[in-house]
Amino acid sequence: MKSLLEKLSLTDVNPGACTGPDGWITDPAGAKLVSRNPATGQPIAAVIQATPAAYERVVQRAVERFQTWRTVPAPKRGQLVRDLGQALRELKEPLGELVTLEMGKIKVEGWGEVQEMVDICDFAVGLSRQLYGVTTHSERPAHRMYEQWHPLGVIGIITAFNFPTAVWSWNAAIAAVCGDTMVWKPSERAPLCAVAVQHITNRVCAEFQPGGLDGLFNLVIGPGATVGERMINDPRLPLVSFTGSVSVGRRAAEAVARRLGRAILELGGNNAILVTEDANLDLAVRAIVFGAVGTAGQRCTTTRRIIVHRSVAADLTARLVRAYRQVRIGDPMRDGVLMGPLVSEEAVARMLAALETIRAEGGEVLIGGRRLPELGPCFVEPTIVRMPRQTPIVCEETFAPILYLIEYETLDQAIAMHSAVPQGLSSAIFTTRLDTAERFLSATGSDCGMANVNVGTSGAEIGLGFGGEKDTGGGRESGSDVWKAYMRRQSNVVNWSPDLPLAQGIEFSG
Ligand code: NAD
Repeated sequence: MKSLLEKLSLTDVNPGACTGPDGWITDPAGAKLVSRNPATGQPIAAVIQATPAAYERVVQRAVERFQTWRTVPAPKRGQLVRDLGQALRELKEPLGELVTLEMGKIKVEGWGEVQEMVDICDFAVGLSRQLYGVTTHSERPAHRMYEQWHPLGVIGIITAFNFPTAVWSWNAAIAAVCGDTMVWKPSERAPLCAVAVQHITNRVCAEFQPGGLDGLFNLVIGPGATVGERMINDPRLPLVSFTGSVSVGRRAAEAVARRLGRAILELGGNNAILVTEDANLDLAVRAIVFGAVGTAGQRCTTTRRIIVHRSVAADLTARLVRAYRQVRIGDPMRDGVLMGPLVSEEAVARMLAALETIRAEGGEVLIGGRRLPELGPCFVEPTIVRMPRQTPIVCEETFAPILYLIEYETLDQAIAMHSAVPQGLSSAIFTTRLDTAERFLSATGSDCGMANVNVGTSGAEIGLGFGGEKDTGGGRESGSDVWKAYMRRQSNVVNWSPDLPLAQGIEFSG
């Protein structure tokens, strides 16, 4: 473990605030936060959290750097992000393993998370030459009308524990090419991943420009209730990109709206897969097991509900139970393990409490449902539950590997059930019929931000916008034209005639 930490420049006790190369801040008044390995409960290393004074220094530096970074040509900004992508490529292995160590997802998923960071950097480099605005024709002679996009300012990035590095990069790579600077507050559950990433950005910035380009990528580690609250209430942050639970996201949205700032909200999901009577069950089972068991059920896109046609329910159930028996649970660092621990003992307690409610609401546990103390403090069995109908507990996001099976008879009924939950992130249908697939993707089909056919709910690529509707918050991150959220739009009219004609033909002279 020590050599892993060393490869990422981590020490036993690390500063928790930073303004860039040579900008680490250890405020002696800062409280110590010990990060633990959820697989063993053992400490990994500690961080000294940001105090209000440290927060102030960090935001001030980000504000100052914005004044110059916004004037750097966008393709040149893209070169910095290219360097960042290269540095991440080189450190993919140790950084991915740190994700595993600190958060508990298995090694291949940890590496996948870092690959996603590399991918979004590649995307952002290309984007740096494609920040297009439109031109249109004026009704007035010798006038030119167009829209252009300017950098927005300092972006606040608040992230959840379950993607401790990738979600930052979805925001950071795009914000950097858009000419913004940024301040990142990671989850208290994964502070070391953030410190490691900050070291990488510091090195890249130091090599990019003499003097080190400080103030561009900034870090403040601390509790949501103090540091997070400061960020959502800080008018110097025109945009806050918040990833986390619906309840905290709602609070963040209210605070940002009160000061008329902008928010990108990436909140909880309650994702369903519809399995129709004609579905290829081999494909469906593989997608469901990856979607429900991957990251121990702690992805926002985790498959939580299977809405299956009555005629294939028994077959699908039997196959899923067989597949679940094969899932190797254990130390996520070990090859061949498919499921690691939950992130904390509180998460285990929440899963067990949900199972009590499930039973009280008529659910029947088909496999799993127990904690596994012999493996460590946070291990549980992945669980499949047959529900008589979509009861209240099914409508909640329990952030654990619980998969609900519910039967349907008609497609209309299945789609109605699919949409009858508050969240609207990711969805999928397994079918071999074109008309059924198209219905699911139509305006009267899935109400989610993401809808797939014969592809599961989790494991998105970076090329499209990522996010969801309803209680998921309506935000979009990552690819497509999401960059527009990180810039300000300006509409311009240029008159190159000797006259001053007014729009709508108005004559305004005495
Ligand atoms: P959480 O809401 O507990 O915490 C998220 C972040 O908010 C943390 O950094 C936390 O410190 C901060 N925070 C807490 N209180 C705050 C406050 N008052 N003001 C500002 N910030 C505050 O979520 P979590 O347990 O870390 O993550 C799991 C949740 O995140 C799940 O609901 C999951 O679905 C969701 N999530 C969504 C997406 C998405 O893209 N839609 C991605 C990942 C996770």
